[in-house]
Amino acid sequence: MYTSLIQDFLERNDYINLIPRAALIDMDGTLYDSMPSHAAAWKQMLSEIGVEIPMSDFFRYEGRTGASTIDLIFQQVYGRHCTDDEARTLYRRKTELFAAMPPVEPMPGAAEMLGFLEQVDIKRVLVTGSGQSSLLNRLNSDFPGAFSMDMRVTGRDVTKGKPSPEPYLKAMEIAGVKPNECIVIENAPLGVESGHASGAFTVGVNTGPIPEDELRAAGADIVFPSMKAFAEALPLLVYGFLTTSRNFN
Ligand code: CA
Repeated sequence: MYTSLIQDFLERNDYINLIPRAALIDMDGTLYDSMPSHAAAWKQMLSEIGVEIPMSDFFRYEGRTGASTIDLIFQQVYGRHCTDDEARTLYRRKTELFAAMPPVEPMPGAAEMLGFLEQVDIKRVLVTGSGQSSLLNRLNSDFPGAFSMDMRVTGRDVTKGKPSPEPYLKAMEIAGVKPNECIVIENAPLGVESGHASGAFTVGVNTGPIPEDELRAAGADIVFPSMKAFAEALPLLVYGFLTTSRNFN
């Protein structure tokens, strides 16, 4: 199962095999069903300053830092960069609106995925651009024991956020694994781009409104229509990794 897809990945990256020792896992939209609330908070903050942006655009910005999202919108709307002050004020307002939204739920299927990874002794590393403490603080109660404090890369630990590969390269460093010893689990195009650029096998889990093809175009090696579907397929996928090596024919 998944053999030819895995062989294509190995060939493209010039790897002999892929032995998964760590899973590098995004947070918003992957572990938590938080993206609708983020998008709604962005939309409201911007309409307060008279800027109207379609909801689905916020899913495309996902993974960027707050400041770079605001800067991008300023360039599109006003044809100029935002000032540091504008970025700070507007992002503070967005954070405030997000915190006032109804509580975000863990993504259905996420706990099963993490449980399976633990069973087969694959390390779990959190890789998020977020510094949003409201969710980071909940990880231990929602997913007990899944992410030890030294197995987390957050927005505070990197200089360049996604789509740069830096967050995932940093995660490999702290997990002590090479690119062909881990998999990246992401829901958004920019996150997938980051994982792909790090050289890891990148799973796109489509939990939002963006067409699956955008995840493939960003470099996803495989795409699942939901976290539940991915959690169900994960044992077979891991079996595929362990039993497939590069085909040199
Ligand atoms: Ca995400």
